[in-house]
Amino acid sequence: MSSVSVPPPKCLQKTFVAPRRHMFGPGPSNVPPRILAAGAEPVIGHMHPEMLEIMSDIKSGIQYAFQTENNMTIAVSGTGHTAMECAIFNAVEPGEGVLTAVNGIWGERAAEMAERIGAKVNSIVTTAGGYFTSEEIDQALAKHKPVLFFLTHGESSTGVVHPLDGIGDICHKHNCLFLVDCVASMGGAPLYMDKQGIDILYSGSQKVLNAPPGTAPISFSERACTYFLLLSMSFFLDMTWLANYWGCDGKPARIYHHTAPVSAFYALRESLAILAEQGLENSWQRHREVAEYLHEGVENMGLKLFVKDKNARLPTVTTIVAPPGYDWKEITSYIMKNHNLEISGGLGPSVGQVLRVGLMGGNSSKASVDMVLEALRDALRYCHKSKV
Ligand code: PMP
Repeated sequence: MSSVSVPPPKCLQKTFVAPRRHMFGPGPSNVPPRILAAGAEPVIGHMHPEMLEIMSDIKSGIQYAFQTENNMTIAVSGTGHTAMECAIFNAVEPGEGVLTAVNGIWGERAAEMAERIGAKVNSIVTTAGGYFTSEEIDQALAKHKPVLFFLTHGESSTGVVHPLDGIGDICHKHNCLFLVDCVASMGGAPLYMDKQGIDILYSGSQKVLNAPPGTAPISFSERACTYFLLLSMSFFLDMTWLANYWGCDGKPARIYHHTAPVSAFYALRESLAILAEQGLENSWQRHREVAEYLHEGVENMGLKLFVKDKNARLPTVTTIVAPPGYDWKEITSYIMKNHNLEISGGLGPSVGQVLRVGLMGGNSSKASVDMVLEALRDALRYCHKSKV
């Protein structure tokens, strides 16, 4: 008689094979064979010297991708949300003021995170598809006097790339840290952490970098490091611990904090190596050209782009006004079923209003655009108009 009352699950007896798909939604993007192969290398100890060297390579790759010389540059073990919490939890104490710019879902999420740790949160809000002027930001900072201002560079829920020039100086004039989310934009749109006076910048692995989800680059300016708390609200995301783990605190010995996701770091390193080989400026230019080719194709089909201001269109994630009279879910399901291709609907304030097409990293090519346009054309022919 067996001592276990829960039997081995039958489903686990089936061999697992992941479906092959064109990942043309807002992320994750397709992981190319070279990055998959790096992630499949044998696991070594997370504190073996070779691993520490890999972490050092990752740090250099992030410094390049972010255009920063910040020593305090690491990858957190977790997704973009983990990096968001890492930024907020290390820079803000309960009772301190935080201002978030909301032009989509990410400013709302940042506000919720700051509220949960007891910060006094205010938000400036504009319509989905819009962005803020420097004057609006200046006035809001003067009014609310926060210690931290949050802005999303690439608003993946609405398809807006936010201008960044000059905002760092405005924040510093108001004695405030400038925190920027570049999860959906890094590598796909121009971004200069140091030149633009960004104090905390974070991203994710699964978008332009084409690595699997689960690691998130983050960097802190010297000014931001002076805000590190003696005791962060989170042990796992405590930057004094993580700084040591990543060799950023100048101390000779590294102390065990958590077991780094070794395979995910291999893949992240390879993805940063590919970006470095291609060159940031080439990558930015390709994403822009491919996005413009997509925009043209979409408009030629009689569809409309959601972001009216051409300069504010995010080159990585394009938002298309949901075709009137159609059920957007029917369109995305049809395309998945018949073209094996993911595009998605809206998120947060853009739900029901848009279709989102993400072409990031290796997926950013005119051939991918042609596939998306063909799938959309087909879907509009076969899905039922005016059922909604
Ligand atoms: N910020 C932006 C702009 C994003 O697009 C995303 C992912 N869609 C996130 C943050 C959160 O990242 P993750 O899903 O990896 O936690």
